[in-house]
Amino acid sequence: MKSFFILTDLEGPSGVDSFTQTRPGDGYPERVEAAKKLLAREVNACIEGIRSVYPEARVDVWDGHGPGGLVAEDVIGGRYLREGKPYKQLDGFDALLFVGQHAMAGTFNAPLNHTYSSKTIAYYKLNGVFIGEFGARALIAGVQGVPTVFLSGDDKAALEARMFVPEIETAVVKQGQGIEAAIHLDGEEACRIVREGAARAVRRTADIAPFTGISAPYVLEIGYLEPPQKDMQGPGIEWINDRTVRIRRDDIRDFPL
Ligand SMILES: [Zn+2]
Repeated sequence: MKSFFILTDLEGPSGVDSFTQTRPGDGYPERVEAAKKLLAREVNACIEGIRSVYPEARVDVWDGHGPGGLVAEDVIGGRYLREGKPYKQLDGFDALLFVGQHAMAGTFNAPLNHTYSSKTIAYYKLNGVFIGEFGARALIAGVQGVPTVFLSGDDKAALEARMFVPEIETAVVKQGQGIEAAIHLDGEEACRIVREGAARAVRRTADIAPFTGISAPYVLEIGYLEPPQKDMQGPGIEWINDRTVRIRRDDIRDFPL
């Protein structure tokens, strides 16, 4: 039986281009609840695409948005996961797919771009390479032998994905025009391209190599927008200045990525 893991985020679906739609604390919780519906329909389109090729597949769906980006009951045909970082244990999975992904912090005209925290992080560099959530998690999957075969999100997120995984299938559901601006595909059209892209992707799983292009040992440099509380201390952790830290680890899964 085929098994697929879908990693989701709330910034990337069609119809989402304002942080008020992704941050419940910004004062518009009803906008966040509406955005969760936009993500769910694209997640379900992805599951439909997978099932159009492998009707019996196991499909796990991890809600990767910090404060929550999906309502469990809205996910149809997949197992909703929320706790922990289950993509660090992909034994038995055939491929990883991203739905609703945004570009890394600092990307020009990329809607809602950020790296892990939209409020505190300027950049991440891994062994000298700028990375965001896509690159980091594609690498985590890659070292486990699992290829990353699909991404849906904005056009800049898709370009970023192809930088790391040139053969990846992508579905561009909006064109970024600024940090909080995009031209969106109509919802049905977005779901159609997600469904068709996911189907193509899972058919091509065997042709897409796991991403392992950044090799151990690893140095992760984190640049903060403002000096953080320097509570991160310990073996392999070195503060370069008051807003830059370098962390050394042998296993990519030992980082908070
Ligand atoms: Zn994110």
